[in-house]
Amino acid sequence: MSVTKCLWCSRVFTPRGSGGKRQRFCRPACLHALDADGLRYIEVALADGALTVSDLRNAPSATRARSDDRDAATRADTRPLPGIWP
Ligand SMILES: [Zn+2]
Repeated sequence: MSVTKCLWCSRVFTPRGSGGKRQRFCRPACLHALDADGLRYIEVALADGALTVSDLRNAPSATRARSDDRDAATRADTRPLPGIWP
């Protein structure tokens, strides 16, 4: 059985074997921590002017293109948000 490292806390864990989306977090609390800190990060970037609401609304979203929709995946804009992600 394979193990992986939690994206948030770096703890090594064994992902569930029941299928579905690839598990990147060892527990729900780590996913929620990422959501909360990501939101705070965006709020600061908006307040600082490093990010605009327009940037967010026009940003590519990985959830918009399903992996089995090759045309949508091809159309997806993969540019990083300015000043947010490398
Ligand atoms: Zn974790």
